[in-house]
Amino acid sequence: HLPTAELQALDAAHHMHPFTTNDDLTAKGVRVIARAKGVYLTDTDGNEILDAMAGLWCVNLGYGRPEMGQVAARQMNELPYYNTFFQTTHVPGIALAKELADLAPGDLNHVFFAGSGSEANDTNLRMVRTYWAELGKPEKSHVISRKNAYHGSSMGSGSLGGMTYIHEQGGMPIPGIHHIGQPDWWSEGGDMTREDFGLARARELEEKILELGAENVAAFIGEPVQGAGGVIIPPSTYWPEIQRICRKHDVLLIADEVICGFGRTGNWFGAQTFDIIPDIMTVAKGLSSGYAPIGASIVNDKVAKVINACEFSHGYTYSGHPVCAAVALENLRIMHEENMLDHIRNVAAPALQNALSALEDHPLVGETARSGMMASIALTPHKESRAAFASPKGDVGYMCREHCFANNLVMRHVGDRMVISPPLVITPEEIEVFATRARKALDATYADLKDKD
Ligand code: PLP
Repeated sequence: HLPTAELQALDAAHHMHPFTTNDDLTAKGVRVIARAKGVYLTDTDGNEILDAMAGLWCVNLGYGRPEMGQVAARQMNELPYYNTFFQTTHVPGIALAKELADLAPGDLNHVFFAGSGSEANDTNLRMVRTYWAELGKPEKSHVISRKNAYHGSSMGSGSLGGMTYIHEQGGMPIPGIHHIGQPDWWSEGGDMTREDFGLARARELEEKILELGAENVAAFIGEPVQGAGGVIIPPSTYWPEIQRICRKHDVLLIADEVICGFGRTGNWFGAQTFDIIPDIMTVAKGLSSGYAPIGASIVNDKVAKVINACEFSHGYTYSGHPVCAAVALENLRIMHEENMLDHIRNVAAPALQNALSALEDHPLVGETARSGMMASIALTPHKESRAAFASPKGDVGYMCREHCFANNLVMRHVGDRMVISPPLVITPEEIEVFATRARKALDATYADLKDKD
């Protein structure tokens, strides 16, 4: 391939990147990733970078699994495409729907496929509104979500999300979507205990339902652990109370499992980790370990009965794409074969916990938090008071992220919280490499801050 500098120049000239400014591409130079194996990326300069984010929280199996490519090639040769509209279907679509129905908790037995998490959440929005309209309650159409949630980038899913800087572009949220507080005890819990704060934040849902009128509220959507919002692990009191409130007011509960699904929190789904049974789950990312673009809404019997009885005028050309479905099936087969949940619970998560605990003595680290294999490190100038930095929010996190890059580590920042979501296959030895590089990045960030003082 061309030399890195030429690739960077071509990229800056022609390639529009999501969530990136031109400055990021030209002044700092974009990293060109050439190949990857296991948990390591290799860039065009030959640097080996430990990917503690599994791409965008998705490459759960790790990179370069030959079986995945073989299955994709076989399916491309056999049936590269057919749609699932009207009265047609195909074997990979059927098999994947059955597998997901088997894995999902409760009576979530029905699967509507999409090409991504955004598309699946758009499906959910239309599906819950259609559900109530079909039951003769078209006014039961409002959906409640949370501040700082991320549910995707399309108009519907972006509106469900609660990030104001996203809403500011393009006229979001669309009407009928409301956002309540997130269960972020570290930043917002003040003097309350975690448990009391969890209950208080859950009860904001009830307040919002009563304000809107339960007869007007179709659904509540939340990520079991808010991912892009900063790996916000809710207090144990939060989700059971949310479930109780939804049931009491006949509001459908949607768990967005796009990050939490498929082992990330130590169970197949985050709903199981937090002991709830939603009506609908959104899945994507880890469904195929990011090897093929696929998402889905997994729906319970009650909702499916109504939706299947009407003509739900919704679907995507690539709903249940046979190659993506075959790749997802292979991903799940490997997860079973390699006892991935056992690896997470008994090997990877304890090793990650040790690494995080060891970092807690660092002067910049306020707390570390972890659910299964998703974790975060809160940076603070003052541990005891959980204070925020005086500099604009996110500056220190950004500095730390850059120092991670310089130390060949991908760790993302959300504000001043570093977030971690490595491939689930990561070994204790690789977690040690992560910890050494993370400490170097923290030290360099600390030194920069001291220089500024
Ligand atoms: N939901 C959650 C919880 C996500 O984290 C994301 C993406 O990061 C999405 C939905 C959107 O998924 P996609 O990027 O596949 O559209």
